[in-house]
Amino acid sequence: MKLRDKVAIVTGASKGIGKGIAIRYAEEGAAVTLASRSMELLTAIARQIEDAGGRALALPLDVRQPESVEAVVRKTVEAYGRLDIMVNNAGISMAHPSEDLQPDDWQRALDTDLSGVFYGCRSAAKQMIAQGTGGCIVNITSVYGLVAAPMRAAYCASKAGANMLTKLLACEWASKKIRVNAIAPGYIRTELVQGVIDKGMLPVGAIEKRTPQGRIGEVSDLMGVAVLLGSDESEFMTGAIVTVDGGWTAYGYL
Ligand code: NAP
Repeated sequence: MKLRDKVAIVTGASKGIGKGIAIRYAEEGAAVTLASRSMELLTAIARQIEDAGGRALALPLDVRQPESVEAVVRKTVEAYGRLDIMVNNAGISMAHPSEDLQPDDWQRALDTDLSGVFYGCRSAAKQMIAQGTGGCIVNITSVYGLVAAPMRAAYCASKAGANMLTKLLACEWASKKIRVNAIAPGYIRTELVQGVIDKGMLPVGAIEKRTPQGRIGEVSDLMGVAVLLGSDESEFMTGAIVTVDGGWTAYGYL
């Protein structure tokens, strides 16, 4: 149990990667707040965690609203007394020709994928500074914050911003004992991604062909790093952007 007695918040915990991290953190001994806009899904996952002997709280959250993020931190501290780990995972993807990308869509992606991460970091840090013990922040960004993918201007710009925020806040808050790291996943087979694959809208064969390990990722592939970055075993890591992509970003040949 690498996270015994820790208190964590996972944003976007209703599905996919966030759901996986929330369940795994609870298995590792953390009390976990699951937060997003889908209370029914969150409540079911929280019940599943409790049935397995863990501690979980489901709370409504819209990461685009700073006061909503503040409320999740406040209610977590009311329930569990402190906050040790903040996982800023909530995100949306968007693919559209840039010349036709509407300002509303651009803004929606930035509000969720960049501002949402900042609000999460800010609210968590205020609590971690106030409690005096610091804590860990883990931002789930993307390899598309490191390299470019056509038609994903808003997504790539937001994720690149979130990677930079990770480094900047790590430097700013190191003296407050707050570590800030990011996981930058490659393609991960969540239900959503599987749906896109099934509709033939993602060239999964081509992606696998240019991935040194020859496959796309599974949610389980991210769990070891998520636990490491939330635990004391990564004590001297801060400001790191850890790619988990089977070597896809490292590859530069043909
Ligand atoms: P997903 O299955 O679509 O889940 C996204 C989660 O974000 C949901 O729980 C959703 O919850 C939540 N969310 C979206 N907008 C929100 C908002 N305004 N406020 C609060 N919660 C919100 O996506 P995923 O694949 O697990 O992705 C999770 C993160 O990993 C994202 O940041 C994504 O960019 C990143 N990522 C994913 C992949 C991949 O291949 N899957 C690759 C690289 C990076 P509600 O709808 O309930 O609010």
